[in-house]
Amino acid sequence: PPDVEQLGRSSWTLLHSITATYPTNPSTSEQRNVSQFMGLFSKIYPCWVCAEDFQEFMAKNQVRVESRDAFGKWMCEAHNEVNRKLGKTEFDCSKWEERWRTGWKD
Ligand code: FAD
Repeated sequence: PPDVEQLGRSSWTLLHSITATYPTNPSTSEQRNVSQFMGLFSKIYPCWVCAEDFQEFMAKNQVRVESRDAFGKWMCEAHNEVNRKLGKTEFDCSKWEERWRTGWKD
């Protein structure tokens, strides 16, 4: 099986990068595409225990795709849910764009 930590770092990079390049004003089909992608991603994520918990999170916290900001913040919250579960420090979600889109200011 894949290394769960390596897989996780790569996957979060992909997921946050997708939110960073998502349109500020997405069309209906763009919204449908990412909704479907996240639903399928949560079903095929190759760490089964992770996938199970992530599907549960998605069932309780419907993915927000109405704008880049909403989608980016939702992803940050999803990542924080895993951070909490693993006893890691929570990330300040007001800084998600600085980390994943525009780059740190200092
Ligand atoms: P990561 O958590 O991989 O984070 C990478 C970088 O993202 C960090 O260095 C930081 O700069 C940034 N970051 C951190 N938090 C946030 C945030 N909230 N928003 C935006 N950016 C942030 N591992 C398990 O052991 N059990 C699980 O059940 C599990 N479930 C997972 C579910 C999913 C959907 C994914 C993608 C991963 C899961 N993982 C799980 C892996 C886990 O989340 C980490 O990726 C792994 O432990 C490596 O952690 P890390 O400390 O290197 O940083």
